[in-house]
Amino acid sequence: MMVNETKTPLLSVKGLKQYFKVSSNYTVHAVEGVSFDIYPGETYGLVGESGSGKSTIGRSIIRLYDPTDGTILFNGMDISKKMSRTDTQALRTQMQMIFQDPMASLNPRKKVGDIIGEGLDIHHMYHTHEEREQKIKSILAKVGLAPEHASRYPHQFSGGQRQRVGIARALIMNPKLIIADECISALDVSIQAQVVNLMKDIQQETGTAYLFIAHDLSMVKYISDRIGVLHLGHLLETGTTEEIFENPVHPYTRSLLSAIPAPNPIVEKKRIALSYDYKTSGIDYNKGTDHLVSGSHYVKCTDEEFDKWRNQEC
Ligand code: ADP
Repeated sequence: MMVNETKTPLLSVKGLKQYFKVSSNYTVHAVEGVSFDIYPGETYGLVGESGSGKSTIGRSIIRLYDPTDGTILFNGMDISKKMSRTDTQALRTQMQMIFQDPMASLNPRKKVGDIIGEGLDIHHMYHTHEEREQKIKSILAKVGLAPEHASRYPHQFSGGQRQRVGIARALIMNPKLIIADECISALDVSIQAQVVNLMKDIQQETGTAYLFIAHDLSMVKYISDRIGVLHLGHLLETGTTEEIFENPVHPYTRSLLSAIPAPNPIVEKKRIALSYDYKTSGIDYNKGTDHLVSGSHYVKCTDEEFDKWRNQEC
């Protein structure tokens, strides 16, 4: 979908820091001052290698952690501080999460219908038993499952079907934002495409926004309107999918893109994977500030590095 930048963001993350004190003299800086916006109905892809802080950002947004610093605004609410009961209630319905491993996140002793209906039960979102059943049936249909699937248990489903259950469970709450944390990484590539297509169709129909967290850029390209590139807890570059793929500025972004295999064997043969090592790059993430490249395309680097890039020396 086209993003209208004049719209108010649905989610606005500003200077988010998330530190974990692991011992008396060691603190992990998992997220270091990350800022980005997600607009209503769009998909924001957050990419980076394992350990870069992607999950931590997702978990901070959904308030599984108290942010160390920064603000998170969601649908007009400041959700980074202590929240009122009504705001907490609104957050728990309007923001939902889909996890990587549906087997681990779906209760094996519960029937799928009850797993999907749990949110409705907790938040009293129906008047009669029939209304509840009807809502579950219609969500099952929306994710491509049959009504009889409601009475089965998670182990009776394939991986792809289980992820559909995970999507249905999130969707039944009619959320404004779904955080999908590596939600297709555990699936076969052919099934990945099916699930991503389903998510796109659902977005068209419901207008929900996605924060799509992944380490695999090829699927991120396919689903995202905008992309943020994360490394060592820093958001190094953010822009529209086209901006990131056509004009990557940060050397780390370039190395990530160069690692994607090309489907065309002739192009693939010529592909040169660029290596990037933070330690030897001469770049200091802590000294970087956000520089506007064009439109909504920002890169984080020092003024000198940005000047160098502008003069095409690097
Ligand atoms: P990603 O999702 O990109 O793989 P994570 O957000 O899981 O990265 O982790 C980022 C960094 O924060 C890692 O170094 C990880 O070990 C650390 N980390 C994540 N959660 C915790 C925690 N609860 N306690 C301590 N360190 C953590």
